[in-house]
Amino acid sequence: MAKLRVKNCTGCGACANICHQQAIRMVEDERGFLKPQINKNKCTNCGLCEKICPALHYESVNASLPKVCAFINKNEKTRFKSASGGVFPAFANYALKNNGIVFGAIYDSDMKVCHTKGESREEISKMQSSKYVQSDTKYTYQEAKNALDNGKFVLYTGTPCQIAGLNSYLGKDYEKLLTIEVICHGVPSRKVFEMYKKEFMQQHNDKILDINMKDKVPGWNAAMIRIATATSEYSFNSSEDSFMLSFLYNLSINAPCVNCKFNKLPRVADITMGDFWGVDDFDKSLNDGKGTSIVLINSPKGEKYFDKIVKHEQPLIKDVPIEVAVRQNANIVRSSEPHHKRKQFFKDVAKGSKTLEALIKKYLFASKYPKTVMVIYKILPPCIKNPLRKIVQKLLFRL
Ligand SMILES: Cc1cc2nc3c(=O)[nH]c(=O)nc-3n(C[C@H](O)[C@H](O)[C@H](O)COP(=O)(O)OP(=O)(O)OC[C@H]3O[C@@H](n4cnc5c(N)ncnc54)[C@H](O)[C@@H]3O)c2cc1C
Repeated sequence: MAKLRVKNCTGCGACANICHQQAIRMVEDERGFLKPQINKNKCTNCGLCEKICPALHYESVNASLPKVCAFINKNEKTRFKSASGGVFPAFANYALKNNGIVFGAIYDSDMKVCHTKGESREEISKMQSSKYVQSDTKYTYQEAKNALDNGKFVLYTGTPCQIAGLNSYLGKDYEKLLTIEVICHGVPSRKVFEMYKKEFMQQHNDKILDINMKDKVPGWNAAMIRIATATSEYSFNSSEDSFMLSFLYNLSINAPCVNCKFNKLPRVADITMGDFWGVDDFDKSLNDGKGTSIVLINSPKGEKYFDKIVKHEQPLIKDVPIEVAVRQNANIVRSSEPHHKRKQFFKDVAKGSKTLEALIKKYLFASKYPKTVMVIYKILPPCIKNPLRKIVQKLLFRL
């Protein structure tokens, strides 16, 4: 077996999907990111995989100055389940009503994150909310193409690099294909996520059934994570959770994410969706604490379908200047900065000799907060500790 060595490979899986010889498989590398592996016995050196690789060649044809608006899904129950203002379920609903197929990320039965197709409300609800882990797109590009070739409406959602992978794989535009990308901070390692789940289950002697990384029970701004196990439910502040800390401090994100060629204008997908951070400074009335999205409409096709959504779903929308959207959501136009010890962190992950909790202590707390600071923090009265924690969260955990 050989590895297809592409600098800045994001693991989108376009090469595995295009290979007519089924010579390419996506496998996790020692850091826990998906990379193509080639079976040399099957490979005919046709070069198609390199030709369509979006990490090697990709240029967006979308508008450099997209239309931008705030978006609130009018269905409260639906919006509550979503990470932000419920843009995704509004479009997914439209797809279902039009006998279409929706592609998005779910937890599979082993709680691994992967892309799948959905044709019912139940299947789509599993795609709701953010799973901050690299998703395995598997063979969904092939499935999307089959559906499009059969005249179906297809809604494909994912990270910008996954949408670029789909577009490259398809090689042409389809009027009935609508792509939506998340504003992306970067994708954490699948291996780090496995370490996290394993440690949690050992600690609690219980099986994880669901993880909501953007739990809205305490509110959209609260930055909470909720874990449902076979016997109980646990809720943590992201600032105290080893996995979320590794993500938010850019320790566990993929190498190409810190030099992402898709986090810029023009965007890759027809529509871009994210959290409307800074909404209060723009218009307080758009924030009811239950989630407000920012939407970028990047193409004429995106605009056509957006107008249909507005007509059918009647969300609350309001135009927003692009500068306002970017002000507190820099990932619209640039990559996240890597943590300065990211490489050492991954060396330790690859060795596998330390727990994630120990690694977080080593890389985030050991040098940053000396023991005395932690001791003082612990003994602070709640009236000081809580506002202090909120300020730190506001500065760091705006996802
Ligand atoms: C890895 C990651 C990083 C993000 N970074 C930012 C950020 O920096 N700033 C920001 O404003 N928003 C970010 N988001 C997006 C944000 O968290 C919401 O997903 C987005 O606003 C959509 O919310 P919603 O309420 O419209 O839809 P929801 O109903 O919450 O729908 C979630 C959508 O995200 C997709 N999705 C979920 N997990 C993954 C995954 N692992 N890989 C690919 N697609 C996935 C689903 O398929 C679905 O389309 C990020 C999301 C992810 C997955």
